[in-house]
Amino acid sequence: MSSLSITGVTKSFGATRAVDDVTLDVPHGSFTTVLGPSGCGKTTLLRLIAGFLAPESGSIAFGDTVVAGDRVRPVPPQDRRVGYVPQEGALFPHLDVAANISFGLPREARATRGDDRVAEMLELVELPADFRHRRPDELSGGQQQRVALARSLAPAPAVVLLDEPFSSLDAGLRDSTARAVRRALQATNTTALLVTHDQNEALSLADQVAVMRGGRLVQSASPSEVYLSPSDPQVAEFVGRAVVLPGTAHGDRAACALGEVVLTSPAEGEVALMVRPEQVFVDLAHAEGVRGTVQEVSYYGHDCAVQVRLGDGTPVQARMAGVRHPVAGDTVHLRVTGLVRAYRPAGSP
Ligand code: ATP
Repeated sequence: MSSLSITGVTKSFGATRAVDDVTLDVPHGSFTTVLGPSGCGKTTLLRLIAGFLAPESGSIAFGDTVVAGDRVRPVPPQDRRVGYVPQEGALFPHLDVAANISFGLPREARATRGDDRVAEMLELVELPADFRHRRPDELSGGQQQRVALARSLAPAPAVVLLDEPFSSLDAGLRDSTARAVRRALQATNTTALLVTHDQNEALSLADQVAVMRGGRLVQSASPSEVYLSPSDPQVAEFVGRAVVLPGTAHGDRAACALGEVVLTSPAEGEVALMVRPEQVFVDLAHAEGVRGTVQEVSYYGHDCAVQVRLGDGTPVQARMAGVRHPVAGDTVHLRVTGLVRAYRPAGSP
Protein backbone atom coordinates (compact mmCIF):
# COMPACT_ATOMS: atom_id res chain seq x y z
CA MET A 1 0.00 0.00 0.00
CA SER A 2 1.17 3.51 -0.63
CA SER A 3 0.21 7.12 -0.94
CA LEU A 4 -0.70 8.64 -4.28
CA SER A 5 0.83 11.92 -5.52
CA ILE A 6 -0.45 13.68 -8.59
CA THR A 7 1.64 16.69 -9.57
CA GLY A 8 0.72 19.23 -12.27
CA VAL A 9 -1.01 16.63 -14.42
CA THR A 10 -2.59 17.79 -17.69
CA LYS A 11 -4.42 15.77 -20.34
CA SER A 12 -6.22 17.14 -23.43
CA PHE A 13 -8.42 15.52 -26.05
CA GLY A 14 -8.08 17.80 -29.09
CA ALA A 15 -9.08 21.27 -27.91
CA THR A 16 -10.62 19.97 -24.65
CA ARG A 17 -8.41 20.17 -21.57
CA ALA A 18 -10.05 17.31 -19.70
CA VAL A 19 -7.55 17.51 -16.81
CA ASP A 20 -5.79 20.82 -16.34
CA ASP A 21 -2.70 21.11 -14.14
CA VAL A 22 -4.07 18.98 -11.30
CA THR A 23 -2.01 18.51 -8.15
CA LEU A 24 -3.42 16.23 -5.44
CA ASP A 25 -1.97 14.14 -2.62
CA VAL A 26 -3.86 11.15 -1.28
CA PRO A 27 -2.19 10.05 1.97
CA HIS A 28 -1.48 6.37 2.57
CA GLY A 29 -4.55 4.47 3.74
CA SER A 30 -6.89 7.43 3.29
CA PHE A 31 -10.08 7.81 1.31
CA THR A 32 -10.42 10.74 -1.10
CA THR A 33 -13.57 11.50 -3.06
CA VAL A 34 -13.31 13.44 -6.33
CA LEU A 35 -16.46 15.50 -6.71
CA GLY A 36 -17.51 17.48 -9.75
CA PRO A 37 -20.21 17.95 -12.36
CA SER A 38 -20.50 15.77 -15.45
CA GLY A 39 -17.64 16.34 -17.89
CA CYS A 40 -15.27 18.04 -15.39
CA GLY A 41 -12.55 15.42 -15.90
CA LYS A 42 -13.07 12.98 -13.02
CA THR A 43 -12.94 9.76 -15.05
CA THR A 44 -10.01 11.04 -17.10
CA LEU A 45 -8.10 11.62 -13.86
CA LEU A 46 -8.79 8.03 -12.74
CA ARG A 47 -7.75 6.68 -16.13
CA LEU A 48 -4.47 8.61 -15.92
CA ILE A 49 -3.76 7.15 -12.48
CA ALA A 50 -4.65 3.63 -13.65
CA GLY A 51 -2.35 4.03 -16.67
CA PHE A 52 -5.04 3.69 -19.35
CA LEU A 53 -4.06 7.21 -20.47
CA ALA A 54 -0.73 9.04 -20.35
CA PRO A 55 -0.46 12.64 -19.09
CA GLU A 56 0.99 15.19 -21.53
CA SER A 57 2.66 16.93 -18.60
CA GLY A 58 3.06 16.39 -14.87
CA SER A 59 3.74 13.24 -12.91
CA ILE A 60 1.98 10.50 -10.95
CA ALA A 61 3.68 8.57 -8.14
CA PHE A 62 2.66 5.70 -5.86
CA GLY A 63 4.74 6.23 -2.76
CA ASP A 64 8.28 6.87 -4.02
CA THR A 65 7.68 5.19 -7.37
CA VAL A 66 6.92 7.53 -10.26
CA VAL A 67 4.59 5.62 -12.61
CA ALA A 68 4.13 8.41 -15.19
CA GLY A 69 5.98 11.66 -15.81
CA ASP A 70 8.54 13.55 -17.84
CA ARG A 71 11.55 11.46 -18.81
CA VAL A 72 10.08 8.44 -16.98
CA ARG A 73 9.17 5.28 -18.80
CA PRO A 74 5.45 4.87 -17.99
CA VAL A 75 4.65 1.85 -15.85
CA PRO A 76 1.96 -0.16 -17.72
CA PRO A 77 -1.46 -0.54 -16.04
CA GLN A 78 -0.98 -4.21 -15.15
CA ASP A 79 2.22 -3.36 -13.24
CA ARG A 80 0.80 -0.42 -11.27
CA ARG A 81 -0.95 -2.54 -8.62
CA VAL A 82 -4.13 -0.57 -9.05
CA GLY A 83 -7.59 -1.96 -8.30
CA TYR A 84 -10.34 -0.48 -10.46
CA VAL A 85 -14.06 -0.64 -9.62
CA PRO A 86 -16.25 0.77 -12.40
CA GLN A 87 -19.91 1.85 -12.30
CA GLU A 88 -21.38 -1.57 -13.06
CA GLY A 89 -20.91 -4.60 -15.24
CA ALA A 90 -17.45 -5.24 -13.85
CA LEU A 91 -17.95 -8.94 -13.16
CA PHE A 92 -17.47 -11.75 -15.65
CA PRO A 93 -21.02 -13.10 -16.10
CA HIS A 94 -19.88 -16.67 -16.94
CA LEU A 95 -17.69 -17.02 -13.81
CA ASP A 96 -18.95 -17.59 -10.28
CA VAL A 97 -18.14 -15.23 -7.41
CA ALA A 98 -15.06 -17.21 -6.31
CA ALA A 99 -13.58 -17.20 -9.83
CA ASN A 100 -14.34 -13.50 -10.22
CA ILE A 101 -12.64 -12.63 -6.92
CA SER A 102 -9.55 -14.73 -7.57
CA PHE A 103 -9.27 -13.59 -11.20
CA GLY A 104 -6.57 -10.98 -10.53
CA LEU A 105 -4.43 -13.18 -8.28
CA PRO A 106 -1.14 -14.48 -9.67
CA ARG A 107 -1.54 -18.03 -11.04
CA GLU A 108 0.42 -19.69 -8.22
CA ALA A 109 -1.46 -17.77 -5.48
CA ARG A 110 -4.74 -18.77 -7.11
CA ALA A 111 -3.73 -22.44 -7.04
CA THR A 112 -2.33 -22.53 -3.49
CA ARG A 113 -4.42 -20.13 -1.45
CA GLY A 114 -7.11 -18.87 -3.80
CA ASP A 115 -9.91 -20.40 -1.68
CA ASP A 116 -8.66 -18.77 1.51
CA ARG A 117 -8.34 -15.42 -0.19
CA VAL A 118 -11.88 -15.66 -1.59
CA ALA A 119 -13.23 -16.47 1.91
CA GLU A 120 -11.22 -13.61 3.41
CA MET A 121 -12.46 -11.15 0.77
CA LEU A 122 -16.12 -12.22 1.12
CA GLU A 123 -15.89 -11.66 4.85
CA LEU A 124 -14.22 -8.31 4.28
CA VAL A 125 -17.02 -7.03 2.05
CA GLU A 126 -19.62 -8.52 4.44
CA LEU A 127 -21.08 -11.17 2.13
CA PRO A 128 -21.96 -14.75 3.25
CA ALA A 129 -19.29 -17.39 2.53
CA ASP A 130 -21.71 -19.51 0.48
CA PHE A 131 -22.05 -16.73 -2.09
CA ARG A 132 -18.81 -18.03 -3.59
CA HIS A 133 -20.75 -20.42 -5.85
CA ARG A 134 -23.24 -17.87 -7.16
CA ARG A 135 -23.01 -16.28 -10.56
CA PRO A 136 -23.28 -12.49 -10.90
CA ASP A 137 -26.87 -12.68 -12.21
CA GLU A 138 -27.84 -14.36 -8.91
CA LEU A 139 -26.73 -11.29 -6.94
CA SER A 140 -28.38 -7.90 -6.33
CA GLY A 141 -26.71 -4.79 -7.74
CA GLY A 142 -25.25 -3.90 -4.33
CA GLN A 143 -23.89 -7.43 -3.83
CA GLN A 144 -22.32 -7.33 -7.29
CA GLN A 145 -20.53 -4.09 -6.40
CA ARG A 146 -19.22 -5.65 -3.18
CA VAL A 147 -17.88 -8.59 -5.19
CA ALA A 148 -16.29 -6.12 -7.63
CA LEU A 149 -14.56 -4.45 -4.68
CA ALA A 150 -13.50 -7.85 -3.30
CA ARG A 151 -11.98 -8.68 -6.69
CA SER A 152 -10.09 -5.39 -6.82
CA LEU A 153 -8.76 -5.87 -3.26
CA ALA A 154 -7.78 -9.55 -3.58
CA PRO A 155 -4.30 -8.90 -5.06
CA ALA A 156 -3.61 -6.29 -2.29
CA PRO A 157 -3.31 -3.29 -4.65
CA ALA A 158 -1.36 -0.14 -3.87
CA VAL A 159 -4.35 2.05 -4.70
CA VAL A 160 -8.03 1.35 -5.37
CA LEU A 161 -9.87 3.59 -7.84
CA LEU A 162 -13.67 3.61 -7.73
CA ASP A 163 -15.52 5.25 -10.63
CA GLU A 164 -19.05 6.09 -9.45
CA PRO A 165 -19.42 2.51 -8.16
CA PHE A 166 -22.81 3.09 -6.52
CA SER A 167 -24.55 5.20 -9.15
CA SER A 168 -26.74 2.38 -10.47
CA LEU A 169 -28.04 1.45 -6.99
CA ASP A 170 -31.19 2.84 -5.41
CA ALA A 171 -30.85 5.22 -2.46
CA GLY A 172 -31.04 2.76 0.50
CA LEU A 173 -28.82 0.12 -1.07
CA ARG A 174 -26.45 2.80 -2.23
CA ASP A 175 -25.83 3.99 1.28
CA SER A 176 -25.41 0.54 2.87
CA THR A 177 -23.11 -0.63 0.03
CA ALA A 178 -21.03 2.54 0.29
CA ARG A 179 -20.62 2.03 4.06
CA ALA A 180 -19.57 -1.60 3.59
CA VAL A 181 -17.04 -0.61 0.92
CA ARG A 182 -15.70 2.13 3.18
CA ARG A 183 -15.26 -0.33 6.07
CA ALA A 184 -13.50 -2.87 3.83
CA LEU A 185 -11.06 -0.23 2.57
CA GLN A 186 -10.42 1.01 6.10
CA ALA A 187 -9.87 -2.52 7.42
CA THR A 188 -7.19 -3.12 4.79
CA ASN A 189 -5.72 0.39 5.15
CA THR A 190 -6.04 0.82 1.40
CA THR A 191 -5.39 4.16 -0.30
CA ALA A 192 -8.55 4.90 -2.28
CA LEU A 193 -9.92 7.48 -4.68
CA LEU A 194 -13.64 7.52 -5.44
CA VAL A 195 -15.20 9.59 -8.21
CA THR A 196 -18.74 10.86 -7.74
CA HIS A 197 -21.05 13.71 -8.63
CA ASP A 198 -23.15 13.03 -5.52
CA GLN A 199 -22.39 15.64 -2.84
CA ASN A 200 -23.74 13.56 0.06
CA GLU A 201 -21.66 10.57 -0.96
CA ALA A 202 -18.54 12.70 -1.37
CA LEU A 203 -18.89 14.37 2.02
CA SER A 204 -20.02 11.38 4.08
CA LEU A 205 -17.42 8.84 2.90
CA ALA A 206 -14.23 10.82 2.58
CA ASP A 207 -11.25 11.84 4.64
CA GLN A 208 -10.54 14.35 1.88
CA VAL A 209 -12.81 15.83 -0.80
CA ALA A 210 -11.25 17.04 -4.07
CA VAL A 211 -13.60 19.33 -6.00
CA MET A 212 -13.05 19.57 -9.78
CA ARG A 213 -14.48 22.09 -12.22
CA GLY A 214 -13.64 22.41 -15.90
CA GLY A 215 -10.65 20.05 -15.60
CA ARG A 216 -9.15 21.96 -12.69
CA LEU A 217 -8.93 21.01 -9.04
CA VAL A 218 -10.56 23.96 -7.28
CA GLN A 219 -10.33 22.74 -3.67
CA SER A 220 -9.11 19.74 -1.74
CA ALA A 221 -9.79 19.64 1.97
CA SER A 222 -11.66 17.75 4.68
CA PRO A 223 -15.42 17.33 4.12
CA SER A 224 -16.28 19.88 6.82
CA GLU A 225 -13.84 22.44 5.44
CA VAL A 226 -15.17 22.06 1.90
CA TYR A 227 -18.73 22.45 3.20
CA LEU A 228 -18.18 25.25 5.72
CA SER A 229 -15.35 27.08 4.02
CA PRO A 230 -15.64 26.46 0.27
CA SER A 231 -12.97 28.13 -1.82
CA ASP A 232 -15.50 30.16 -3.83
CA PRO A 233 -19.31 30.60 -4.04
CA GLN A 234 -19.52 28.14 -6.96
CA VAL A 235 -17.95 25.40 -4.85
CA ALA A 236 -20.34 26.38 -2.04
CA GLU A 237 -23.32 25.89 -4.34
CA PHE A 238 -21.93 22.65 -5.69
CA VAL A 239 -21.32 20.92 -2.35
CA GLY A 240 -24.69 21.82 -0.86
CA ARG A 241 -27.45 24.41 -0.80
CA ALA A 242 -26.14 27.94 -0.34
CA VAL A 243 -27.65 31.38 -0.07
CA VAL A 244 -25.20 33.80 -1.69
CA LEU A 245 -25.98 37.45 -0.92
CA PRO A 246 -24.21 40.72 -1.70
CA GLY A 247 -23.05 42.56 1.42
CA THR A 248 -20.80 45.26 2.80
CA ALA A 249 -18.12 44.14 5.21
CA HIS A 250 -16.40 46.10 7.92
CA GLY A 251 -14.00 44.08 10.05
CA ASP A 252 -15.60 40.92 11.40
CA ARG A 253 -19.18 42.01 10.52
CA ALA A 254 -21.11 42.53 7.32
CA ALA A 255 -24.49 44.03 6.47
CA CYS A 256 -26.74 42.23 3.98
CA ALA A 257 -30.42 41.57 3.21
CA LEU A 258 -30.52 39.19 6.20
CA GLY A 259 -29.28 41.92 8.57
CA GLU A 260 -25.89 41.99 10.26
CA VAL A 261 -23.85 38.80 10.14
CA VAL A 262 -20.58 37.78 11.81
CA LEU A 263 -17.76 36.76 9.43
CA THR A 264 -15.36 33.82 9.63
CA SER A 265 -12.50 36.24 8.92
CA PRO A 266 -12.35 40.04 8.66
CA ALA A 267 -13.08 41.74 5.32
CA GLU A 268 -13.67 45.26 4.01
CA GLY A 269 -16.03 46.66 1.39
CA GLU A 270 -18.22 44.88 -1.13
CA VAL A 271 -18.38 41.11 -0.59
CA ALA A 272 -20.44 38.06 -1.53
CA LEU A 273 -21.67 36.28 1.61
CA MET A 274 -22.32 32.54 1.74
CA VAL A 275 -24.93 31.35 4.21
CA ARG A 276 -26.00 27.71 4.52
CA PRO A 277 -29.82 27.27 4.72
CA GLU A 278 -29.51 25.56 8.12
CA GLN A 279 -27.86 28.76 9.41
CA VAL A 280 -31.03 30.73 8.65
CA PHE A 281 -33.20 30.67 11.76
CA VAL A 282 -36.92 30.93 11.00
CA ASP A 283 -38.70 32.65 13.85
CA LEU A 284 -42.40 31.82 13.87
CA ALA A 285 -43.23 33.32 17.24
CA HIS A 286 -41.39 36.64 17.55
CA ALA A 287 -40.99 39.63 15.30
CA GLU A 288 -37.18 39.54 15.58
CA GLY A 289 -35.01 39.50 12.49
CA VAL A 290 -35.74 40.35 8.86
CA ARG A 291 -39.34 39.97 7.79
CA GLY A 292 -40.29 37.80 4.83
CA THR A 293 -43.14 35.82 3.32
CA VAL A 294 -43.00 32.03 2.91
CA GLN A 295 -43.29 31.08 -0.77
CA GLU A 296 -42.98 27.32 -0.59
CA VAL A 297 -42.23 24.54 1.92
CA SER A 298 -40.69 21.21 0.90
CA TYR A 299 -41.32 18.75 3.71
CA TYR A 300 -38.85 15.85 4.09
CA GLY A 301 -40.00 14.44 7.47
CA HIS A 302 -36.78 14.90 9.44
CA ASP A 303 -36.56 18.50 8.23
CA CYS A 304 -37.94 20.86 5.63
CA ALA A 305 -36.75 23.50 3.18
CA VAL A 306 -38.54 26.80 3.47
CA GLN A 307 -38.40 29.25 0.57
CA VAL A 308 -38.85 32.81 1.81
CA ARG A 309 -39.03 36.12 -0.08
CA LEU A 310 -37.76 39.08 1.92
CA GLY A 311 -39.45 42.50 1.81
CA ASP A 312 -36.85 43.76 -0.71
CA GLY A 313 -37.56 40.77 -2.99
CA THR A 314 -34.46 38.71 -2.07
CA PRO A 315 -35.16 34.96 -2.14
CA VAL A 316 -33.69 33.00 0.81
CA GLN A 317 -33.83 29.32 1.56
CA ALA A 318 -33.93 28.13 5.16
CA ARG A 319 -33.68 24.59 6.46
CA MET A 320 -35.48 23.77 9.68
CA ALA A 321 -36.72 20.82 11.74
CA GLY A 322 -39.89 19.32 10.33
CA VAL A 323 -41.74 19.22 13.68
CA ARG A 324 -43.30 22.66 13.51
CA HIS A 325 -42.96 24.58 10.29
CA PRO A 326 -44.70 27.46 8.53
CA VAL A 327 -46.83 27.15 5.40
CA ALA A 328 -46.87 29.16 2.17
CA GLY A 329 -48.20 32.68 2.73
CA ASP A 330 -47.05 32.92 6.40
CA THR A 331 -45.06 35.91 7.56
CA VAL A 332 -41.82 34.87 9.29
CA HIS A 333 -38.71 36.58 10.64
CA LEU A 334 -35.25 35.36 9.69
CA ARG A 335 -31.85 35.76 11.26
CA VAL A 336 -28.49 34.18 10.61
CA THR A 337 -26.80 32.04 13.22
CA GLY A 338 -23.11 31.09 13.26
CA LEU A 339 -20.28 32.51 11.20
CA VAL A 340 -20.55 33.51 7.55
CA ARG A 341 -17.87 33.23 4.89
CA ALA A 342 -17.23 36.39 2.78
CA TYR A 343 -15.80 36.35 -0.77
CA ARG A 344 -14.70 39.08 -3.09
CA PRO A 345 -17.57 39.64 -5.53
CA ALA A 346 -17.18 37.98 -8.96
CA GLY A 347 -15.20 40.18 -11.35
CA SER A 348 -13.40 42.17 -8.64
CA PRO A 349 -9.58 42.17 -8.74
P1 ATP B 1 -19.03 12.17 -16.05
O1 ATP B 1 -19.35 12.53 -14.63
O2 ATP B 1 -20.14 12.56 -17.00
O3 ATP B 1 -18.57 10.74 -16.24
P2 ATP B 1 -16.32 13.21 -15.98
O4 ATP B 1 -16.17 14.29 -14.99
O5 ATP B 1 -15.87 11.85 -15.59
O6 ATP B 1 -17.82 13.13 -16.51
P3 ATP B 1 -14.55 12.91 -18.24
O7 ATP B 1 -15.18 11.65 -18.73
O8 ATP B 1 -13.23 12.80 -17.60
O9 ATP B 1 -15.55 13.70 -17.29
O10 ATP B 1 -14.44 13.91 -19.48
C1 ATP B 1 -13.83 15.19 -19.37
C2 ATP B 1 -13.89 15.88 -20.73
O11 ATP B 1 -13.04 15.19 -21.66
C3 ATP B 1 -15.27 15.90 -21.35
O12 ATP B 1 -15.42 17.13 -22.02
C4 ATP B 1 -15.24 14.75 -22.33
O13 ATP B 1 -16.11 14.97 -23.41
C5 ATP B 1 -13.79 14.74 -22.77
N1 ATP B 1 -13.30 13.39 -23.11
C6 ATP B 1 -13.17 12.35 -22.25
N2 ATP B 1 -12.65 11.26 -22.87
C7 ATP B 1 -12.46 11.62 -24.17
C8 ATP B 1 -11.95 10.95 -25.32
N3 ATP B 1 -11.50 9.69 -25.27
N4 ATP B 1 -11.91 11.64 -26.49
C9 ATP B 1 -12.33 12.92 -26.55
N5 ATP B 1 -12.81 13.62 -25.50
C10 ATP B 1 -12.87 12.98 -24.32
